[in-house]
Amino acid sequence: MTTMIYDAIVIGGGPAGLMCSNVLSLHHANFLLLEKNDQLGRKLLITGGKRCNVTNRYSVDEFISHLNFKHKKFLYPSLKVFGPTEVIDFFKKRQLNLVLEDNLKYFPETNKSSSVLEALVSGIQKDHIRLRSNVKNIRIEDGIFSVKTSDESYLAKNVVIATGSNAYPYTGSSGDGVHFAEKLGINTLPFTSAETHIYASYIPLVIKDLQGISILNSEIRIPGTKVVHHGGLLFTHFGLSGPAILHAAEDIDEAIRNGISDITISLVDMSRQALLDIMDNAKASNELLLRFLESILSKNLAKKVLELTKIENRHMKEISTKQYQTLTETLHSLKIPVDRVEIPERAFVNKGGIDTKELDPKTMQVKKIKGLYAIGETIDVHGPIGGFNITMAMSAGFAAAHDILHNIKS
Ligand SMILES: Cc1cc2nc3c(=O)[nH]c(=O)nc-3n(C[C@H](O)[C@H](O)[C@H](O)COP(=O)(O)OP(=O)(O)OC[C@H]3O[C@@H](n4cnc5c(N)ncnc54)[C@H](O)[C@@H]3O)c2cc1C
Repeated sequence: MTTMIYDAIVIGGGPAGLMCSNVLSLHHANFLLLEKNDQLGRKLLITGGKRCNVTNRYSVDEFISHLNFKHKKFLYPSLKVFGPTEVIDFFKKRQLNLVLEDNLKYFPETNKSSSVLEALVSGIQKDHIRLRSNVKNIRIEDGIFSVKTSDESYLAKNVVIATGSNAYPYTGSSGDGVHFAEKLGINTLPFTSAETHIYASYIPLVIKDLQGISILNSEIRIPGTKVVHHGGLLFTHFGLSGPAILHAAEDIDEAIRNGISDITISLVDMSRQALLDIMDNAKASNELLLRFLESILSKNLAKKVLELTKIENRHMKEISTKQYQTLTETLHSLKIPVDRVEIPERAFVNKGGIDTKELDPKTMQVKKIKGLYAIGETIDVHGPIGGFNITMAMSAGFAAAHDILHNIKS
């Protein structure tokens, strides 16, 4: 009996593998999608608070400018062909409208990530899907790939690694792709936390009682570096969270590894000069300090600033120059000693994975191994919250599938 040689095997049923499989299915390729879980898209289902922030309203240039890694131009070719606009169209054609929120993020009109998963799965013929298929190894012999799961072995002309990173391993994404790549001599970079919160015992110990308080637009800096992030910040019982912290986490992680363990945060949404100006105005009208603070901060935070600066609640004119400086620093650049960044397994998104230098950015094919592709979070690309990651995963899946179709036709 001769063993079937598939056109392609896609390993991993997250947004990257599902998008790739959609295109292959639409063009009647002879392929299999192997997923280790007993269901597809387990991580997809928990995204965006189970509502799934699928994409955003950015143009490709804006999209790329918001990414926080040096080699981000790698994504241009794939996003130019299949970017946020194409993601919205893809779901619309499958009767799922995506709705704009906060003038930035697109969520499904049903507010359910399960609708996104259903739309993705609906385009894949069932007989192409093999659940409970945990791939253990990929080998190449005479240009044909042998893909071994716990209990089966498959042959294919093309293989797509779409196994995600090692963030949230209970969803199935345990970083297997890098192990396959390493065994095939492909360079990888260790997974480290990218989008996550930070632990700072200073918050529960010193800046107590602020749990749950947020700042709409804080400026986060890492002293001694050029790193600066802006956005929402949340005080928690363990440290800091919120969009700006999540986005800054990978830089903070790197700073800690370089021996820097403090960050500064602004409590007010204004430049240092604007702050000095309104402080001067308050001084001129001789306001009480607490009243002034309450005019720019929440009541709890205003009280906390008094406590931290150890300045009595006096009239502004009675405050010494030194106290004035302390007040400015506290409001504009409050120093927070950071203990650590959340571990990669508990981060929302991780950096690292298969080195993009190994891949052709137009097709996601491994340059030195014809027929092998890597897509999604298993490769060294990542984005902030706001629909970037799912878009990048789908975009890469689209690129790989079209290249495979081109290969099998020629
Ligand atoms: C809590 C949370 C919320 C998030 N919210 C958003 C959001 O709203 N918007 C956004 O853009 N991004 C969000 N992300 C990030 C986003 O989910 C990921 O970037 C995206 O899912 C990556 O897609 P992927 O297809 O590359 O990998 P994954 O979604 O991780 O899928 C990989 C698949 O491969 C399977 N697999 C792994 N190893 C094997 C193996 N050996 N054999 C067979 N199958 C295997 C896994 O079981 C899994 O199904 C969120 C992440 C988390 C954790």
